[in-house]
Amino acid sequence: MRYLIVAGAALVPFQSQAADGLLTPPAVQTGTSEDIDVAAINVPTSEPEFRELKVRRGDTLMKMLMGQGFSRSESHSAISALRTVYDPRKLRPGQTIKVSLDPAADEGTSLIGLALKPDVDLDVFVDREADKFAAKEIKKALSEQSHRVDGEITSSLYEAAVAAGLPPAVLIELIQAMSFDVDFQRDIQPGDSFKVMFNRFHDETGLALRDGAINHARLTLSGKELYIYRFTDKSGRTDFFDQKGHSIRKALLKTPVDGARISSRFGKRRHPILGYNKMHRGVDFAAPSGTPIYAAGDGVIEVSGWNGGYGKYVRLRHNGEYRTAYAHMKAISKNARKGKRVRQGQIIGWVGTTGRSTGAHLHYEVLRGKHQVNPLSIKLPTGKRLTGTDLANFRNLRRDMDREFEALPVTEPVAPTIASVD
Ligand SMILES: [Zn+2]
Repeated sequence: MRYLIVAGAALVPFQSQAADGLLTPPAVQTGTSEDIDVAAINVPTSEPEFRELKVRRGDTLMKMLMGQGFSRSESHSAISALRTVYDPRKLRPGQTIKVSLDPAADEGTSLIGLALKPDVDLDVFVDREADKFAAKEIKKALSEQSHRVDGEITSSLYEAAVAAGLPPAVLIELIQAMSFDVDFQRDIQPGDSFKVMFNRFHDETGLALRDGAINHARLTLSGKELYIYRFTDKSGRTDFFDQKGHSIRKALLKTPVDGARISSRFGKRRHPILGYNKMHRGVDFAAPSGTPIYAAGDGVIEVSGWNGGYGKYVRLRHNGEYRTAYAHMKAISKNARKGKRVRQGQIIGWVGTTGRSTGAHLHYEVLRGKHQVNPLSIKLPTGKRLTGTDLANFRNLRRDMDREFEALPVTEPVAPTIASVD
């Protein structure tokens, strides 16, 4: 085998990223080159070079590797090997891929290996083995521990959560879990408080790597206490239940958009465009254009598309009794085409001002039978109630969780050190 040795080339390990996020091109190699018969004079092969590639929007791994000067066939076989343990289509902008290469190797054989870290506890490696590549994944064993964070609201729930050291992902889970009972835009007052017990995963050195699910939470709102417990029933379905073993999942969400304020209620009003008094058969939520709109409940898409003054419109059938409708959307999700089944909380479209509308808002209707009803005053049917052995198991779990919760020290309000994921 003949190696092309580039004399005087400086090897730059882990080439740095330029400030604009673009990759620094490989260092220009200078010096004279000459062909040397390696076998004949026994010159050691050169040191490997390491590069860190950052995935950018629109990148494919193939494009990235070929952009680094690797041949198509070499890139292809490395990616094929990777695919046996990791789907490269899962790569996201900002993720880092480490590449090692032999700068002195023949064209088509310079790639030595790839390394990436898809998750805090998962490493994936692709290594050259003779003329092909082999991939392996190394999963770190993590230990799970309960944590408890208590906080009191002085201004906003978000500020209180940050001050108490409640991780944002856990706060989001808390809000989503309780959004059936609590309207987080309106029901939170100074003096309200929260106590949350959730899992945290540590590596063998005790470093916290990831936060897991909430197991139990207590919310005190204007003196009223709401408790939730995570429970898996005998059919394997996991959900949050209140102290009585009733699912806190209601048939319909109270507010199908985040961060919205009510700009017009249900009932008679002067129409902003037509000028005369007209019955308003829904509730308007003012929200910035592009804000996601959630399906208020599980159901099937009954109408999806342009609907006159309603603009871009989706109607969802939840059961024999209730339907919900969403109007003036900027765009409808491709998952909300007619006939599709959607889950509660799934994004069905985005707030806009299409049709007869004066500004970005969601016009939201709840239909009971054929008639629109006031979404803010209907008494929504509650979800599942545990019975029999499920209820007996739930009562045991609730007792154990209460005991664990009372015994847990409250985590000091410092920002936890959570290792980053590429
Ligand atoms: Zn409206």
